[in-house]
Amino acid sequence: MNMTQEFDLLVIGAGALGIFHAYHALKAGKKVLLLEKDKRAQEATVRNFGQIVPSGLIPGSEWHEYGRIATELYKEIQEDFNIGIRNNGSCYIASTTTEMAVLEELQDKFKAVDYHSELWTKAQLLDKYPMVQADYATGALYFPQEVSAEPEILIHRMLEFLLLKFPQQFSYRNNCPVVDAATRSEQATITTADKQVYKAAHCIICSGREFKLLFPEVFAGSGLIVSKLNMMATCPQQHTVLPGNILTGLTIRRYESFTACDSYQALDPAEVPQDCSDYGIHILFKQRVDGSVIIGDSHQYAPIADQDDLSVFYNDMHINEIMLREAKKIMQLDNWNIAQNWAGFYAQHEEEISCHTIEDRIHIVTGIGGKGMTTSAGFAAQNIRKIFNH
Ligand SMILES: Cc1cc2nc3c(=O)[nH]c(=O)nc-3n(C[C@H](O)[C@H](O)[C@H](O)COP(=O)(O)OP(=O)(O)OC[C@H]3O[C@@H](n4cnc5c(N)ncnc54)[C@H](O)[C@@H]3O)c2cc1C
Repeated sequence: MNMTQEFDLLVIGAGALGIFHAYHALKAGKKVLLLEKDKRAQEATVRNFGQIVPSGLIPGSEWHEYGRIATELYKEIQEDFNIGIRNNGSCYIASTTTEMAVLEELQDKFKAVDYHSELWTKAQLLDKYPMVQADYATGALYFPQEVSAEPEILIHRMLEFLLLKFPQQFSYRNNCPVVDAATRSEQATITTADKQVYKAAHCIICSGREFKLLFPEVFAGSGLIVSKLNMMATCPQQHTVLPGNILTGLTIRRYESFTACDSYQALDPAEVPQDCSDYGIHILFKQRVDGSVIIGDSHQYAPIADQDDLSVFYNDMHINEIMLREAKKIMQLDNWNIAQNWAGFYAQHEEEISCHTIEDRIHIVTGIGGKGMTTSAGFAAQNIRKIFNH
């Protein structure tokens, strides 16, 4: 790379937030350098479900809007370049009449903001998804416009897309931890571990749950916490086909869109198995293109100073067994053998995201929580406009 090259924007971290900040700046005509500390990004953005679900966010809220903008953008890019987006919708399966009442109320709330969904009876659900356990389901709410991603490939394809689409404006360095960022001579100036220095009008730090390399003193007082999620994937299914994102009764008790419904109050917490409450378990399914089914997830939390106590080197099999027990109540798969299990981690903040600007030029953006695949592309669009005053 030419060290004297001038940039308008430096982006640190090639996860969902970093990639989409780079994308929107490039669309606005800016020259962008993106730096990633690892060979390939391997954090939350590649370890997640890939469920793009604006339906999980409060109807009419700014985050629901970001999700809608992002969904349209994913579809638009997919038409131009294969980033692995599939438009198979999202299906929320109710397991009780009280959960069904929440789905009905949510449908009304989404109608009011012109967000389409279909309410299905039990018979309609079983007709479309015959693999759902009949004694589990009461009915479902389906969002046909929602999409799913393949997290393990999405971000790498997005990088290829940006390099192809913006050859004059976009530069990328991997294996390149940034170890210092400061404003010098009215420019954002960063230094990499291999002692290269880059300058630009602005620098956006999208460093996910990495809090030790840059501005640890800012993060220490940020109120950010880290969540660890256990995930599993089955061997490829021979016959079972699960289209789209599948979310279930425990999700109805967890996602924020449902909490905005009056009928949510009628859900009895005592109906949730104690071990699911203890480990923040709700059951989601998503089939990969190779036919394997991702099953998850659980949630264990720690303040950022203690995130290493969440254990990065093993997953508690007891938690996986609880998830499998619950998953089998919901779904009939032809192969329940688990081929892979892994942990994903994300940072979250009570204000939905954590943004902190230093001397007008260095912008820390992290803590988007469990909605980053759904909303990053939408959030980044307005954040780039704000940073560059467009
Ligand atoms: C198991 C799991 C399931 C999930 N499922 C979904 C889902 O279905 N739908 C949804 O919407 N969201 C989901 N999420 C949430 C979503 O994955 C995250 O919100 C999102 O990926 C966060 O993106 P990010 O860019 O902030 O962070 P990250 O993906 O963590 O990216 C940060 C990047 O910055 C790099 N970096 C850090 N410090 C430096 C440095 N100093 N120099 C250079 N590079 C650096 C890191 O290496 C990393 O690649 C899930 C998350 C998990 C963990």
